Amino acid sequence: MPKAGKLKRLFMKAFDFVIVGGGAAGFAAAIKADELGAKTAMINAGLPLGGTCVNVGCVPSKAMLYPGEILHLFAKHNIKGIPPCDLSKNGQNFSFHDLIEEELSIVATARMEKYIHVLQQLSHVSFIEGMGRFVSPHELEVNGTILKGEKFLIATGSKAEPPLIDGIKEAGFLTHVEALSLSQQPRSLLVLGSGPVGLEFAQMFARLGTKVVLVSRRERILPNGEPELAEKLEEIFQEEGIEILHNAIVLKANKVDGKKKIVLSIQGEIREIFGDEILVATGKIPNTKGLGLEDIGVALDAKKAIVTQPTLETSLSHIFAAGDVASLPMRLETTAGKEGTLAASNALAATKLSINYRSVPGTIFTDPQYAYVGLTDEEAQKQGYACACRVVDFGKVPKAAILRRKDGVVKMVVDASSQEILGVHVLAPHAAEFIFAGALAIQNKMTLEKFLEALPVFPTLSESLKIAAQAFVTDLGKLSCCT
Ligand SMILES: Cc1cc2nc3c(=O)[nH]c(=O)nc-3n(C[C@H](O)[C@H](O)[C@H](O)COP(=O)(O)OP(=O)(O)OC[C@H]3O[C@@H](n4cnc5c(N)ncnc54)[C@H](O)[C@@H]3O)c2cc1C
Repeated sequence: MPKAGKLKRLFMKAFDFVIVGGGAAGFAAAIKADELGAKTAMINAGLPLGGTCVNVGCVPSKAMLYPGEILHLFAKHNIKGIPPCDLSKNGQNFSFHDLIEEELSIVATARMEKYIHVLQQLSHVSFIEGMGRFVSPHELEVNGTILKGEKFLIATGSKAEPPLIDGIKEAGFLTHVEALSLSQQPRSLLVLGSGPVGLEFAQMFARLGTKVVLVSRRERILPNGEPELAEKLEEIFQEEGIEILHNAIVLKANKVDGKKKIVLSIQGEIREIFGDEILVATGKIPNTKGLGLEDIGVALDAKKAIVTQPTLETSLSHIFAAGDVASLPMRLETTAGKEGTLAASNALAATKLSINYRSVPGTIFTDPQYAYVGLTDEEAQKQGYACACRVVDFGKVPKAAILRRKDGVVKMVVDASSQEILGVHVLAPHAAEFIFAGALAIQNKMTLEKFLEALPVFPTLSESLKIAAQAFVTDLGKLSCCT
């Protein structure tokens, strides 16, 4: 750590609140700080303003998944009388270049409207482009200037974990960042990792006509998810031509005749696979390196995330953390934003606010989407609930037949003694659009009886949640529509 004395020549500025990072968490905190009238500085570098979600995460990935969904619908709409039409074959019938160009333009517009313009309206917030580094508990150095802060928020996010695979650097690989701005569509792609990012990108490229092999270290995809849903999703992936290799340990990578090669060990058997590109989606690491945190006494956990209390305080009570960099239970755009807002309030208005993560929904944007909120069956049991579950397939949901999409599954987890709804897990087209109903049920500690008083619109896929609840109290085979 440079000694404060050596930095005396540097220009010094004083703020009530200094935010390091200009992503979802940083922005939400800046908006709250502005509302509270605090003299605030927001520092950002690395990714452009807006951070991961708008630039290289949620927005561009969904903008690329949607065209794949459209191509898939052309080929597999299952409507008798309309001949299917496969436009994705070898990428011959559509322009990959145009898809990427449009995706990047959606990103640029969102960044301008939701971040740059918003920042311009915050009268108490000064923006500084540069990398921040603590030189003392109350001083952050940026571009040779010292910012003195009463309170701080660290919201520096996370980045794709560099793979520890022999030869992969030399062979070359993509992360989600490069994969969303390719100039050419790979004809074949080896995806390492079967978590949310691996699954979304595998289906995105497969539906555009790329031959995809998904390499998973685990016995099944989404090992922490509900097995009934994960198995169904895996079945759908395989039907769409995505090859999934389980229990696969990557030994090394190299380049052979212009192709990338990966050597795997699958339960002791050695196998070689080849592709035009390798996409690494094996996890993300918090951006704590180079911030000087160890020197000032901010504690990190074993995964290098900042040890963060539910009230967003770190081990130093005037420094808060929010978003992907913090050791909190979820890493989503929504939680990052909410944590940023609460951290600013707790830092500047002496509140002690925190998030109830159990009622926060999340979604893996495959098609069908995997949306979830609350506890899984296994988690509920581990927490000591005598839990009851019902699993209902979309053959029982009238709207699914109308859409020719019976490939969904819904699972509801309930506390058997109090009948409180503990978890809702849905694999269905557009499941993200209606998981919020499950979130409200959990947030309000609804019992099955209370939940069943509500009337979903007929015919909708949201009705699946009510049908899952009915499965606890009725024989679904004896139900008519809307009963
Ligand atoms: C491919 C992908 C798809 C995703 N899809 C979804 C989705 O659909 N829905 C969802 O809810 N979530 C999604 N996520 C997760 C979501 O994007 C993140 O949880 C969220 O963006 C984290 O926000 P943040 O503010 O913590 O960090 P970030 O948005 O990463 O912002 C941190 C900022 O700080 C900057 N920075 C880092 N170090 C410094 C430093 N020392 N000084 C100054 N600046 C610094 C970074 O460059 C960055 O600009 C996705 C993530 C990925 C990778």
